[in-house]
Amino acid sequence: MVFSYLKLRKQEWLTFASAMKIQEKKNLRHLSLDEIKQVLEEQGEKSFRATQVWEWIWQKGAASIDDMSNLSKELREKLKENFDLYSISVDTIQRSSDGVVKVRFKTSDNFFIEGVLIPAIDRITACVSSQVGCSLTCTFCATGLMDRERNLTHDEIFDQVVQLNKISEEQHGRRLTNIVFMGMGEPLLNYSNVIKAIDKISAPDGLVISPRRITVSTAGISKIIRKLADDKVRFRLALSLHAADDQKRSRLMPINQENNLESLTESLQYFWEKTGNRISFEYVLFEGVNDTLQDAKNLVTLCKKFQLIHVNLIEYNRVQGVPYKGLSFDKMEKFAAILEGYGLNATIRRSRGRDIDAACGQLANKK
Ligand code: SAH
Repeated sequence: MVFSYLKLRKQEWLTFASAMKIQEKKNLRHLSLDEIKQVLEEQGEKSFRATQVWEWIWQKGAASIDDMSNLSKELREKLKENFDLYSISVDTIQRSSDGVVKVRFKTSDNFFIEGVLIPAIDRITACVSSQVGCSLTCTFCATGLMDRERNLTHDEIFDQVVQLNKISEEQHGRRLTNIVFMGMGEPLLNYSNVIKAIDKISAPDGLVISPRRITVSTAGISKIIRKLADDKVRFRLALSLHAADDQKRSRLMPINQENNLESLTESLQYFWEKTGNRISFEYVLFEGVNDTLQDAKNLVTLCKKFQLIHVNLIEYNRVQGVPYKGLSFDKMEKFAAILEGYGLNATIRRSRGRDIDAACGQLANKK
């Protein structure tokens, strides 16, 4: 009995030891402030050091433990024995003639993702990715052609904002003002990391960017939109609508088969009631697909179910190997005029950063 007990313990110990050998360092950014305090106290450090580490991580956007210059070299070395930040790094930067900057980031496990900085007169917007690739198969989107490799962690999402903010300060002398989750991936399929990243980005002891200036764009997953409402999130939500007719929408976005317009309407109304947050619709115009008078009327009927609804008409950026074509600017204006005739508020969003493939839906993992 004693023997088998010991044997078992020994087996457990061996498993543990072999696991330890291959065990990677812990991610320091996945620790709470209290946990960091505990780690530092075990090293014989005073608890205020934990606040310093916290500030380095979430306020100053340190890329490594070495960056934490007000900690002694000795303490940094000790921390590095067991911890890492696993930050993403800037791999390449491309600058468009219209001021848009596209950054290709490399994750610590060698995946590539992209983020974009979009300067305008009244704002500087960072467009960030939420996943490596995407599991949705929207038929017009470059990322949709890729597989979803993995979700980004909340700190990797945070890193994109920090790095794009750095470029904004260097290039424009001011911090970025807005964030849109319109890069690679479907943010609602990486719910907890997106929520945690937004918490850190907007926190008073974080980057202090108001959630009102953060927009999460979704292809539309009814169940998760309801969860956002129940969680009373404070950021804005944009639905990539692209067609107000189930048959057309399912062809463009297969996810519509399980999340049809009726279920999305119900969940968005629920979101609106629970949070009072502005919802906007994104509508990419495709020649001969969703640009008829009937399409405009369907869009108006759908929008009228919501108060204060606003439609962004988006210029399509061609994607290699995909048969869709965008509408000319003239035709986009005509479509907008029809909507306005019915009392809808429509804005035409011209494409930016096209010359460097940085425009909406063009982000892809081009190694
Ligand atoms: N998965 C989320 C966010 C990423 S896509 C979503 O679907 O909303 C961000 C936006 O770019 C979406 O509105 C998407 O439909 C749009 N988009 C994708 N490919 C595009 C392209 N080639 N040209 C213009 N917009 C595109």
